Amino acid sequence: MVIEPHIHMIARTTQDYERMARMGTVACCEPAFWAGYDRTSAAAFHDYFTHITSFEPTRAAQYLIQHYSWICLNPKEADDLTLAREVMAFMPEFLDRPTVLGVGEIGLNKNTKNEMTIFEEQVEMALSRNSLIWIHTPHLADKLKGTRMMLDYMKGHGKVDPERVAFDHVEEHTIKMLKDAGFWTAMTIYPITKNSPTRVVDAIERYGLSRMIVDASGDWGPSDPGTLHDARFEMRRRGHLPQDVETLFYNNPCYFLGQCEKFKPRPTRPRAEAWG
Ligand SMILES: [Zn+2]
Repeated sequence: MVIEPHIHMIARTTQDYERMARMGTVACCEPAFWAGYDRTSAAAFHDYFTHITSFEPTRAAQYLIQHYSWICLNPKEADDLTLAREVMAFMPEFLDRPTVLGVGEIGLNKNTKNEMTIFEEQVEMALSRNSLIWIHTPHLADKLKGTRMMLDYMKGHGKVDPERVAFDHVEEHTIKMLKDAGFWTAMTIYPITKNSPTRVVDAIERYGLSRMIVDASGDWGPSDPGTLHDARFEMRRRGHLPQDVETLFYNNPCYFLGQCEKFKPRPTRPRAEAWG
């Protein structure tokens, strides 16, 4: 069994659900993100949130896959403070829905002041509701600085429990500082750019299994849900124990996401044993 912790199924075909089901995916999670273009009104976000909390769970269920989502105002569209706050005003009604796991993927894109303001306001919303948080770290040249900005804020906040926060799109130069601070880390695999399946398994061998998640992050760009299964195969090919492969691709997402009572899959082993 595999859990896909980060994928934008709104941009994928029904055949992707079918392939994922055949490859053993039992649940997938869809963080709210940029649509590939800037939306022109808050109503467009309302429609988007409605889609990922109603239509996608129904589509996934036809392939026996549980579909969960995260709701937020994404970092790429956070620079317009007025629009961002209009969207944030109706986020709570979606956060209450039965398949929504928490606030995400919030974060930074170009590390601007406005992005940081909206990030902080959404962290407060999550904390006030005791929600889990899924964080998008910026890509490429902005990654290290943006990750440090958010990590420093979360560490200095005083009320953030790192066990309930995952930083996604981590790379070799950002994993250690996040793990050392007690946060969950997620690595994204892309077929062309950024992390490859082999690079992800290299990082696991270097930094261990604890508080590590892997996702394929399929969206409207060059991406493939199958890369998650490629990474799983690469780990098996290198001779890792079957229970360690299961920890990374199934149990770890259960440990993190299962902190939200709406998430149904249960781990096959207690966490202390799995990371032992
Ligand atoms: Zn994403």
